[in-house]
Amino acid sequence: SPSRPIVSLSGVAKRYAKVSALERIDFELFPGEVMGLFGHNGAGKTTIMKLILGIIPASDGQVKVFGQDPLSKQAFEARKQVGYLPENVSFYDQLTGREVLRYFARLKSVPKQAIEQLLEQVGLTHAMDRQVKTYSKGMRQRLGLAQAFLGSPKLLLLDEPTVGLDPIATQEFYASVDKLKSEGASIILCSHVLPGVEQHIDRALIISGGRLLAKGSLSELRQQAQLPVAIKTQG
Ligand code: ATP
Repeated sequence: SPSRPIVSLSGVAKRYAKVSALERIDFELFPGEVMGLFGHNGAGKTTIMKLILGIIPASDGQVKVFGQDPLSKQAFEARKQVGYLPENVSFYDQLTGREVLRYFARLKSVPKQAIEQLLEQVGLTHAMDRQVKTYSKGMRQRLGLAQAFLGSPKLLLLDEPTVGLDPIATQEFYASVDKLKSEGASIILCSHVLPGVEQHIDRALIISGGRLLAKGSLSELRQQAQLPVAIKTQG
């Protein structure tokens, strides 16, 4: 693609004290793309998210988000363009869905006018005035997605968003992701499993033990050797 990448990592390494979490990671995410980041637990997926969010420094190499080092002062505006849905998001159960989004909208200085449309996009209009404690796990994840998308960030980072969801809830979640993609969001989606995710991604990275095992479209990846069985046996 000729356009400037939204995210680029080149030669990135991360060490936590004695643990080497990432080594020589290179990839780019271009505008409008949904990239799947696959790997087993401990492969380094969350570490990549934290580097992109600018909450930890790389030990080596360069991380660029919207063309800037996400840890630099100049990246102040760029950081607001990044939405993050962590693994196992939790909410104040006493609040309604609408109140949760109002609360986060205030924290992010996002006008509350956006809230009802967001609730519609994630299929929660019918439940917006119910307390979150009455929500299913799938509804909570979709509320988390709406929270991450407050302010229409240009980049969305989703960490294992459908763990523990049944197939229908998983499909409902990705239907909402597809809507946000059509609004122009570029997305990085971490997962340790492929089923349910593959129709919704344009490209994939596979990491193992902190190293990049493969990258490309799913059809390109399936033709490669040494890939985890879970990925090769799909489709
Ligand atoms: P999971 O899905 O289990 O979170 P992951 O692919 O996201 O896995 P990371 O959380 O990025 O993996 O962890 C990569 C490696 O770095 C693991 O070996 C982990 O134990 C280690 N690690 C992560 N965070 C820290 C930390 N703060 N201090 C020390 N080691 C860490």
